[in-house]
Amino acid sequence: MRRYTCPNCSNEVHFRNSACVNCHSRLGYVPAWDRMFHAGPDDIKWHDGVTAYRACANRQMISCNWLIEDEDPADHCRSCRHTLIIPDLSAPGNRDHWASLEEAKRRLFYSLEKFRLDMGDLAAEPGSALRFEFKADELSADGKTRRVMTGHANGLVTINVAEADDPTREKYRKAMGEPYRTLIGHFRHEVGHYYWDHMVYNTSRLDAYRAIFGDEREDYGSALKRHYDHGAPNGWEATHVSSYACSHSWEDFAETWAHYFHIVDGLETAGWYGLDGHTPDAGLDRTPGGWSDAGPYGAVEFEPLMQAWVPLTVAMNAMNRSIGLGDFYPFVLSETIFAKLEFIHRLIHDHR
Ligand SMILES: [Zn+2]
Ligand SMILES: [Zn+2]
Ligand SMILES: [Zn+2]
Repeated sequence: MRRYTCPNCSNEVHFRNSACVNCHSRLGYVPAWDRMFHAGPDDIKWHDGVTAYRACANRQMISCNWLIEDEDPADHCRSCRHTLIIPDLSAPGNRDHWASLEEAKRRLFYSLEKFRLDMGDLAAEPGSALRFEFKADELSADGKTRRVMTGHANGLVTINVAEADDPTREKYRKAMGEPYRTLIGHFRHEVGHYYWDHMVYNTSRLDAYRAIFGDEREDYGSALKRHYDHGAPNGWEATHVSSYACSHSWEDFAETWAHYFHIVDGLETAGWYGLDGHTPDAGLDRTPGGWSDAGPYGAVEFEPLMQAWVPLTVAMNAMNRSIGLGDFYPFVLSETIFAKLEFIHRLIHDHR
């Protein structure tokens, strides 16, 4: 992700900030411009000289800092409007969990915008556009817990809000033997299924896909059962980015898709902070690093991405160890995994 400055005082501000800590301007983010706008304490709206913007209806409730063009009839920003169901806000913790989910989702939408990936038209395609529902487990009348399964079906991404609770998510991570489990990881993974439906299935790429990721016609239910009963086969690290990726071809694609997002967004961040071996620009108004203006998100070639990424992860792991933390990047990439990542790179770039 890029860096932002307060347009009023030039202090560095973050993507999630609703106010500048230096000059106390009210900040809002306009995704179409990928920049922050500022307003005074008494201003109701934000202006860029030509267009007026107003706050997303979720600004007070969950600190969504995205703005909407004033003439847009929608109440919610481009990210929040894709959320159809939120958890019961009277239950303790749910408002904070929802806020964390939307914050991670705005980061997802940032990447989707940068890759120019279509999210579908909610009005024209209400049953197939990209939609989200955030639900909590429920106790039914018979005393049993009805568990909400995180997953994707026909554009609808369901996330169990318990994933937004750090101790709970950490408990799941340990129980599943995973080195990495985050909200942004969930979002990036689940939309991978949506884009598979639109960019791979029923296209000329399907044969090439099967040659790399295996045949997705394998029965999904029994494949998952095999995975949960027996785990990933020995030596899976040489071919898959995670053990869960071994469960089924679709999961391999979604795990690798999420991983590609981690790499590209990580490289963009590294570029803006001068961590990729390039000297960052003195100002923050142009794309730094050795990339074109669109940065790593617009990289045409796949190789340079990996050449920049691998040494960066080695350095970041060493940094973490030097202050006693676990690995920043608990993954090992093989040639087979590179080929999978390159398939996704080509898919997104050709579309872009
Ligand atoms: Zn400021
Ligand atoms: Zn919003
Ligand atoms: Zn999945």
